[in-house]
Amino acid sequence: MAASTGKRFVIIGNGASGTYAAETIRKNLPDSDVTLITNEPYPLYNRVALPPYLRGTAKREKVFLRTPEQHAEKGIKLLLETQIERIDVRGKVAHSADGRELPYDQMLIATGGRPNALAVPGAAGTLGVLNFQYFADAEAIRERMETSKHATVVGGSYIAYELAEAFRHHNLEVTWLIRGPRFLRRVLDEAGGRLVDQIARDAGVDIRYGHEVKEVHARDGQVVGVTTTADQHIDTDLVGVGLGVKMNTEFLADTGITVRGGIVTNEFLETAVPGVLAAGDVAEFFDVAIGLHNQMGTWNNSVGHGRIAGATMSGDRKAYNDTPMYSTGLFDSRIRVMGLTPENLSDLESYQEIDEEKRNYRRLFFRDGRLVGGCLIGDIKLQTKIIQVIQARQVIPDSERASILQS
Ligand SMILES: Cc1cc2nc3c(=O)[nH]c(=O)nc-3n(C[C@H](O)[C@H](O)[C@H](O)COP(=O)(O)OP(=O)(O)OC[C@H]3O[C@@H](n4cnc5c(N)ncnc54)[C@H](O)[C@@H]3O)c2cc1C
Repeated sequence: MAASTGKRFVIIGNGASGTYAAETIRKNLPDSDVTLITNEPYPLYNRVALPPYLRGTAKREKVFLRTPEQHAEKGIKLLLETQIERIDVRGKVAHSADGRELPYDQMLIATGGRPNALAVPGAAGTLGVLNFQYFADAEAIRERMETSKHATVVGGSYIAYELAEAFRHHNLEVTWLIRGPRFLRRVLDEAGGRLVDQIARDAGVDIRYGHEVKEVHARDGQVVGVTTTADQHIDTDLVGVGLGVKMNTEFLADTGITVRGGIVTNEFLETAVPGVLAAGDVAEFFDVAIGLHNQMGTWNNSVGHGRIAGATMSGDRKAYNDTPMYSTGLFDSRIRVMGLTPENLSDLESYQEIDEEKRNYRRLFFRDGRLVGGCLIGDIKLQTKIIQVIQARQVIPDSERASILQS
């Protein structure tokens, strides 16, 4: 690696992508000046470990991945509780809300997304209506669960599922409201949706599809119930909200950095503004595996982006080329989602098989005849093979699609 340049690197966001980028830069350029900034009060913690922490199966020590002392040992200046509110890309300075100026030679934006609030009458400011994104959210939900008997979950994706599972784990009665026709409605077909429905019902969850919360009811500031869009009333002590995220990009206004669904980058994670890169959930990066821009919300994608961005920033320019995977439990089953799915890109072809008795579900996604993604529920042994076939990027005739699912 080249000798140190003494350059100043400012990294906004200390999640997986920001932290791994900072460490890669300091490793490659030991004399560089690296500042890692977050508006949260903590060093890196593992968001993937938040659901087990909520269930009580992971301890706090397992959730936190870094300490301020470890950052200091690595020569990374960690600024906690510091909100960046403006970037001057001409003067190359990041401005914090408390008036600090942070000059940089290169900057990485790794700010991820923040959860959408439940935007219905009665929800704002009502105690017990909680999102699930940050460590602080997990603490608040844990505390609330102690005094709750019934919980309502809102949303049709992973976060909503993790909440439903944690609430059942603590023996709360659970009603799960899903606006669409099934869980992960774009990734699963009807049969896959029915399988998850059965798995969740067997775990004791009352699922209602086509329902949203219309109004939240409170007494003395505390949630006591919700009315759904089907005019059903549910008495509840806790509302867990999993309604997607909004990317943290507002502070980039007037910078010339292109923002669509996320911050647009090339395959090296460089934005249109020289010296500014983006990584992790917030990056809408050029994905060489599919020849299109893409955006992911997975832990291993964020770690990979962080390492690649850090390498590129320290002079070892590398393209990102990986197959992301989202893996989590599913009550007493498991789910793996690999590569591209219709969540990322519409118009993918699919091939699926289900074994209802064994509760195994497999779905493959194809684009231009190549395997680009897949989903497994239950038996997940095929995950390695599926990833290998995705990475081989060979055209697979229709007649041979089923053979991918043979172990
Ligand atoms: C509860 C939960 C469970 C999950 N489970 C899984 C799983 O099982 N598998 C999986 O693959 N993925 C999972 N994910 C997703 C995964 O955790 C994320 O994709 C990944 O953590 C994103 O990392 P990141 O570095 O891009 O951003 P983030 O981790 O979101 O970090 C961004 C940081 O930047 C800060 N920030 C934002 N704006 C500013 C600003 N203007 N100034 C200063 N700081 C700012 C944010 O507060 C945050 O601390 C889960 C996520 C959650 C919330």
